[in-house]
Amino acid sequence: MTNTATSEQCTNITVNGTGLAVSPGHSLIQALWKTGHPLFKRASCLEGVCGSCRVMVRYADEPEVKMALACQTKVESGMQVVFPQHLERQSAALQTHRYQLQSSIPADQHLHEVFPETAHCRHCHGCTVACPKGIDVEKGITLANDNELTAAGDLFVNCVMCDLCVTSCPEDIAPNYVALFARRTTAFNKPLPGNLAARLQALQRGELKIEY
Ligand code: SF4
Ligand code: SF4
Repeated sequence: MTNTATSEQCTNITVNGTGLAVSPGHSLIQALWKTGHPLFKRASCLEGVCGSCRVMVRYADEPEVKMALACQTKVESGMQVVFPQHLERQSAALQTHRYQLQSSIPADQHLHEVFPETAHCRHCHGCTVACPKGIDVEKGITLANDNELTAAGDLFVNCVMCDLCVTSCPEDIAPNYVALFARRTTAFNKPLPGNLAARLQALQRGELKIEY
């Protein structure tokens, strides 16, 4: 089925199995909004930062499926698009990752207590292929398993927490949350920047007032 075009010049694409005629020259989100398509209640920043609009795309002349962010992807004739929300699963591991940052426990030991499944990485590349931000996610997990937490966390600076790596992992690893842990523990175990420490001390002494 192909929905009615909204302009004389339109580009034909397929979204979740439905043919649509959309305005060319727009991002997927903009084009679909113009059709009145209801899919995008979750879209947030529209600048490739929040990761809400993750999408699977196959272009007309390419056999493989790529992952992308719909707000950063221009419509192209013949492209097939699937919004994978319905493929998401609630990882049991995701729901039980609770931790408190503690300097008394070595961060690497803590990591393996909180995320024991990380050791089961089978190096299938699925997470790296899935990442729309081009992060070498698998390498991050390998670094984390080798207790290289600073390097692991640094790899994920551009992560938008879209969870596509989680969705793609056959071992129920949540690489983005492992990276978050790595970055938090790295920061926690470093001395505070001088100006921040001074502000916190002033706050504790009651010297900073909040004006409403
Ligand atoms: S690392 Fe995972 S959550 Fe972060 S942008 Fe890549 S796929 Fe999304
Ligand atoms: S998808 Fe999972 S198992 Fe595969 S490489 Fe990534 S973290 Fe490892």
